[in-house]
Amino acid sequence: MINANKKIASNENIVEELYNPLNYQIIRKNFSSIYLKKNLIAPFMLQDGNCLLAITKKTKNDVISDILIKLDTQDKKIIILPSEELINLINSIYDTSMESIKGSNNGQSDEFLSDNSSTDKSDEFENLKNFEHIDLIDENSDAPAIKFINTIILEAVKENASDIHIEPFQDYLLVKFRIDGSLIEKIRPQVNLKNSIVSRIKVMAGLDIAEKRLPQDGRIQLVARNRNIDIRVSIVPTIFGERVVLRLLDKSLDIYDISEVGIDEKFIPLVKNALAKSTGMIISTGPTGSGKTTTLYSFINEVIKLFSDKNVLTVEDPVEYQIKGISQINVNNKIGLTFAKGLRHILRQDPDIIMIGEIRDSETAEIAIQSAMTGHLVFSTLHTNDSASTFARLTDMGIEPFLIASSITIVFAQRLMRKLCPFCKKSYVLNDENIKLLAEKIDINTNINNNLNIADNNLTIIKGILKSGNFYIQTGCKECGFTGYKGRTAIYEILEVNDEIRSLVMSRASSQEIKSKAIENGMSTLRIEAIKKFAAGTTSLAEVIRVSEED
Ligand SMILES: [Zn+2]
Repeated sequence: MINANKKIASNENIVEELYNPLNYQIIRKNFSSIYLKKNLIAPFMLQDGNCLLAITKKTKNDVISDILIKLDTQDKKIIILPSEELINLINSIYDTSMESIKGSNNGQSDEFLSDNSSTDKSDEFENLKNFEHIDLIDENSDAPAIKFINTIILEAVKENASDIHIEPFQDYLLVKFRIDGSLIEKIRPQVNLKNSIVSRIKVMAGLDIAEKRLPQDGRIQLVARNRNIDIRVSIVPTIFGERVVLRLLDKSLDIYDISEVGIDEKFIPLVKNALAKSTGMIISTGPTGSGKTTTLYSFINEVIKLFSDKNVLTVEDPVEYQIKGISQINVNNKIGLTFAKGLRHILRQDPDIIMIGEIRDSETAEIAIQSAMTGHLVFSTLHTNDSASTFARLTDMGIEPFLIASSITIVFAQRLMRKLCPFCKKSYVLNDENIKLLAEKIDINTNINNNLNIADNNLTIIKGILKSGNFYIQTGCKECGFTGYKGRTAIYEILEVNDEIRSLVMSRASSQEIKSKAIENGMSTLRIEAIKKFAAGTTSLAEVIRVSEED
């Protein structure tokens, strides 16, 4: 009994030693993380002079003896961990990057950011090329450019940034992050690091380092903070040097449930009804970055929940999130794998549900519509401003109106709105000036649309919504990086294609006529949905106006 307790106590001590940062420096000094991960071992020299080896069941004996020779010791304790836990442990041992970015924000970063022309160590890159996915933590290089890029990417992942911009100007360099849709300046690295930073990115993306006059596109796949990140790289030469945009696609993110994306509860049954059908086409519209794909993923998620036996195939450019249990295909225009071609091949794979990342050309549109009419449920996106313009866009692509009318079941238009930071949002009373501002915005659109019917309808509804709201204004605090906003929500305009809409589409009615009819049938517009979010205290008046202007 006593012995057993003693054993447990000493095991707890051992586990503590694994997470004691004091033990990490010796490991980092003697071994590379790549070596340790490859051989599944983490050797600790403890303060009491003992050697502790964290291993897995798969660790080879000769690796253990090699390490004991290197550390010049025979006394050892061994702890066996599951492989994943050991890899995580090794990652945390080598994760020193965040210490450096903290330093750089405090202005103590001169040493870290100073230029060092001996940047590229080619053997180091050779090592990395053997790994399909680079784990950022594996690169414990002292070269400033490498350290800088790794730190910036890790920080961007931590802050859920969607893009990293590296912008050169005459005498300074700017790094900005796009977070929740807004560009925020992060750091101004020393301008003489400019070339080594761009070279490093080119190496990571497999681009031509020598080519500095032409734009280049590439891709980096890596692991950061245990998340698989796919980075789209775009490099464009400007008069002050090459400008870099890194778009981060986090494939480990959760897929939202259909009830969480922002669709008004009232319309959920309508959407679920369309998803439960085995044919037809559901189209999501909006500008780039309006969250269309996220919405389609939540639909796929819902369909998988409803029917586990469906064969789901997607063709995307690029695959933004990996969804378990479905097959996703990346478009690759360089080798001729276009949306249309991918789609033709998918149809030979006996699909039930097809998602097409985007309909850009008539060939894709044609195959999509045909599929939707021949026993497939099809999801896709289209680049139009509102839901009603979808029909005209498809007609322009050469699709017959009766085919459009008989295949499309629902059209979504959507926008993303920033949510007010819950820590600092300030309650206020909506004054006449605010309401006037809002009304002006609507008037502008009335003139453009030249449709007083819709505007009158809107004004009555808007006044109703504004009568009983809780209004807040953005301020800014530490929690939201002094922007006043934290996170985003989507607003939706959902157009159901019923018999009335169908006959309007078949008679080639204008988008305005279709929109009016849809509103008459109960459709809520993007602007109304935006104002609802404002009245509910979720977002600000500034965001409502921003979204309305895009409209
Ligand atoms: Zn705040």
